Amino acid sequence: MSHTRPYRIFNAAFARALDVTPHLRRITFAGPEIAEMATWAPDQRIKIFFPTDDGRVPNMPDVEDWYATYKSVPVAERVPMRTYTIRNLRADQAEVDVEFVLHGENGPASRWATHAQPGDKVQISAPNRRAEKIGGGFEWEPPADPRHVLLMADETAIPALAGILEQLAARQSPPPCEVFAEVADRADALVLPTWPGLTVHWLIRQEEGDPRPGDLLTAAINRAKLPAGSDQTITELETIDIDATVPWELAKGTEGAFYAWIAGESEAIMSIRRILIKERGIDRSLLNLMGYWRFGKVYE
Ligand SMILES: Cc1cc2nc3c(=O)[nH]c(=O)nc-3n(C[C@H](O)[C@H](O)[C@H](O)COP(=O)(O)OP(=O)(O)OC[C@H]3O[C@@H](n4cnc5c(N)ncnc54)[C@H](O)[C@@H]3O)c2cc1C
Repeated sequence: MSHTRPYRIFNAAFARALDVTPHLRRITFAGPEIAEMATWAPDQRIKIFFPTDDGRVPNMPDVEDWYATYKSVPVAERVPMRTYTIRNLRADQAEVDVEFVLHGENGPASRWATHAQPGDKVQISAPNRRAEKIGGGFEWEPPADPRHVLLMADETAIPALAGILEQLAARQSPPPCEVFAEVADRADALVLPTWPGLTVHWLIRQEEGDPRPGDLLTAAINRAKLPAGSDQTITELETIDIDATVPWELAKGTEGAFYAWIAGESEAIMSIRRILIKERGIDRSLLNLMGYWRFGKVYE
């Protein structure tokens, strides 16, 4: 029954947009079904189904195994589906905000976000307010009282990062925290919450000779404040074929003095994974390492 499933399909329409920075557009989706949407964490991921270029609007049935249904449609006939983060949900107003990186006309989501007009329809697979139990789709689960938090994000993970910082700032005693955030231009460095133990390093590609996305984050890991590593460093890490699989490694347990949440371009994530685990001997059970997109490739 759709009303108690953890996730369901929501019909929604573009209501309005706000350019938070030159490359980050906050789109507000509205529609009566959004009153039934939930969000369980600041990095809550959702899937958005977009219209096709020839104007076919998404029409996914709200069934339990919507993913199998989606995959059963021949590739040429599928509507595009991409992963995004709930930035703000106002279920009482039946509105949800999603922040889109505008990276050009080369992907259906970025293209749609660039041109969408009021009333344009999408569908969203998102948490269901009536779910009997929390159904996942988020990774931010920090220990109650970490001694140090490391957050690293490129622009695709900045909506989640901003939500995470808002949540930490609201704690009675926010933990010491270091942030590395990589964006294209200085104007993309948005205003983030602040507290005495928080240090934010903006990594601006345009000021560093426009390197490949992710390169500045990778280099920055060497100046991040890290816990002492183990002498028993792992000599060989399992290989991940990032063309076939999204790199996604998660911290285990909610105890620990150190906690890292690192999300961005997949090759950068792989490099950071190697440096942290293999070179620095950091306990991998303290690390969330998440590929949010892949340079030059398409992940659904
Ligand atoms: C859990 C999760 C949460 C995410 N949350 C957000 C979010 O809140 N906001 C957001 O903007 N993105 C988010 N992303 C990333 C988003 O899913 C990808 O950027 C996606 O590829 C965008 O789809 P597209 O149709 O625009 O491009 P695609 O069709 O997927 O890709 C087309 C081309 O564009 C390139 N490309 C894709 N993204 C970028 C980029 N950001 N910069 C430059 N080139 C790019 C690809 O490498 C490819 O060459 C999230 C991803 C995950 C896994």
